[in-house]
Formats: sequence, C-alpha cells, structure tokens
Amino acid sequence: MAEYKLLPQKDAAELVKILNNVYKDSHYYLDFKTPIDLLAAAVISAQTRDEVVNKATPALFSKYHTARDYANADEEELTKAIKSVSFAGNKAKNIIKTCKTLVEKYGGKVPDEMEELIELPGVGRKTANTILINAYGIVEGIPVDTWVIKLSYRLGLSQNKQSDKIETDLKERIPKAYWSKIAYVMKNHGRAICQTIPYCSKCPINHICPKNGVTTRN
Ligand code: SF4
Repeated sequence: MAEYKLLPQKDAAELVKILNNVYKDSHYYLDFKTPIDLLAAAVISAQTRDEVVNKATPALFSKYHTARDYANADEEELTKAIKSVSFAGNKAKNIIKTCKTLVEKYGGKVPDEMEELIELPGVGRKTANTILINAYGIVEGIPVDTWVIKLSYRLGLSQNKQSDKIETDLKERIPKAYWSKIAYVMKNHGRAICQTIPYCSKCPINHICPKNGVTTRN
C-alpha cells in the first residue's frame, strides 16, 4: 500500500481557499427556521438523502413547533409524519427522548454550548457543530460527515478514521475562517468532481492534492 501523504500546512490552507472560492455558495443542506427544526431535521437525516429530508420536514415543522410539542408527541403520529424517511420509528423515538431532555433540563431551549449538546441523546459532535454553526453562528469546530471523512483522507488533511480525530486534524490544518463552510464545500466538491472514481484532470486542486488512495479516471 502506498505511503500516506500528509499535505504541508501552507498547501492545506491554499487548497481550502481554492475550493472555498469554487464552491462559494455552499451552505448547510437541510431546510430549517429554528434551532429545534434543525435538531429534528438533523436526527431525521441519518442515512437519508437530503432531498428526502427536505421533502418531509415542511409538514413536520408545521405540526411541531417547539421542543415541548415533540416531547409530548404521540410516537405513532410522529412516526407517521416522517414515514418517508428511513428508520422513521427509531428517529421519532429519538426526537421525543431528546426533546424531553430539552424540556426537563433546558426549559425547552436547544443549548448553544458544545458540552450540553453532546450530552443530549443521539447528538454527537457532528450534529452539535451543525447546530452551533447554523442555528447560532458559533464556530467551535467542523461537522465531520461521510464526505468530510472521505475527502480529508484523499486530500492529505487527515489519515484518521474516527470523526473526532479527523476534526482535530482539520482544525489544526485549516484556517478558522473556513471551518463553518468546509463540510458543505467538501460535499459539493465530492458530488461534482471528487466522486468514487474522481475526475482529477478536471479538478481545481489537482496541482496540490496528494490523491491518497485514489484510482483516477483516464
Ligand atoms: S478529484 Fe482528484 S485531485 Fe481533486 S480532490 Fe479529488 S482526488 Fe484530489
């Protein structure tokens, strides 16, 4: 197996700058208006395509407005409201459980602190960072999703497999100004160019990217 090539810090900053310019309109991909909408959408989104989530949430958000609404929801009715997404029953159960904790511990408010968010049932650092960045404008970290895991490895930003460690590596290598959008930038780049078999010859960072573990197209 070829040796992993870690990108020098200055190249990492350059690479992220280029991607950020190319995908400058990148933004969080799930629709929401309030922190509780976002929390519910994030729970629903596990192993489900964004388009499916965004199709399901308008009806959901018009019925459930607050953490109290979800905490008091009938599990069967909530499951029915999100029946188009995978594992609807489990997700409904998790939303109710999380919102009961919100009501009991935080008066129904979605916390704006990492430590409090990650103590909620079913909320890991990815969702916590997503909520902090997109609902509260607080940038403490980087949400690490499957695209970030895949591209960070290829781009020489992290050879770790665990999302917490990848986040630490990224925070060391990427200037903070890019943290809030980098996950969405990477997702757009992964969908457009850095696909399973990537289009390296068309890629705007071809000259810097070490292409770890990549089989390129001809
Ligand atoms: S398409 Fe190729 S050059 Fe571009 S980021 Fe992916 S692996 Fe690197």
